[in-house]
Amino acid sequence: MAESSFGKVLYRGVEKCPICGANSLEVAELLYEIPSFGNVILYSYRCSNCGYRHVDLQYLEEKKWKTYKYDIKDERDVTETMVFRSKTCRIRSPDLGFSIDPGIAAEAFITTVEGLLYKVLDLAERMLVLSESEEEKSKIREFIENVRKALRGEKPFTLILEDPYGNSLIRPPRGREDRLETQGLISSETDKE
Ligand SMILES: [Zn+2]
Repeated sequence: MAESSFGKVLYRGVEKCPICGANSLEVAELLYEIPSFGNVILYSYRCSNCGYRHVDLQYLEEKKWKTYKYDIKDERDVTETMVFRSKTCRIRSPDLGFSIDPGIAAEAFITTVEGLLYKVLDLAERMLVLSESEEEKSKIREFIENVRKALRGEKPFTLILEDPYGNSLIRPPRGREDRLETQGLISSETDKE
């Protein structure tokens, strides 16, 4: 692709087309550093099956990759911790066992950890309906049970936000700010799962 010769490729892959549903949507995210103007990300979507095309631009402030890590320990952490999530952010919990990835269908949101867990629960319940094997169903049921416990503050877990543009944030309850870990980047090597 011509644009990759001067834009930096952040992501390139094939995803499901929102129009025809085929796994033939070519997605490219390219970063352009334009002097005296700033950074721009170009999102390009092109479906080789139905011909759908879409291009989007995002202007960036001078921000860097940020990772936030916070241990949810009780009900107060669940109801009072706020999560600010931009479209480029990955939210995951290695111990509870979920990951919400950035991508074409990613949505930006501001919610409490409680609200986030309800989203996770909703996704899991949809997966349960779609799942065809009994083994998979029982795994999903177990996961749902764990998320319900987490919602009641009965199952501590670690919440991690990773955003290459630093536009996302975890805000702990008042007085618990010092428990929040912030890093430039938690690499997968140092992340103990
Ligand atoms: Zn298509």
